[in-house]
Amino acid sequence: MNKQSRRDFLATGAALWATSLIPVSVRAEAGAAILQETDGIAIALGYKKIASDVDTSKYPKRAGAAGATQFCSNCRLYSAKANGMGGCSAIPNKLVAGQGWCNAWIPMA
Ligand code: SF4
Repeated sequence: MNKQSRRDFLATGAALWATSLIPVSVRAEAGAAILQETDGIAIALGYKKIASDVDTSKYPKRAGAAGATQFCSNCRLYSAKANGMGGCSAIPNKLVAGQGWCNAWIPMA
């Protein structure tokens, strides 16, 4: 093994070792993309990143005074992360807006 390949081997090994120390859930979050309203699952669930943009004639669940209090940030499936974004257990590996909403919204227990 020449000097360069040994250095590459050690660097790769160190990177793999360091990665193995990070919990899988953290690694998944680090790579999570922001859910776009145009994503198929977002369309299917009626997701809007700004909850007030929801068409309440199509999604009456968010209509009225009670509906207007529903946001991702107070949904049981939401887990807050940084910058007003969070994970959603209904939409794996994507970040949703805390101020968003979708038709799968469930109140906190
Ligand atoms: S299930 Fe809850 S957290 Fe997930 S997108 Fe819908 S309202 Fe937001």
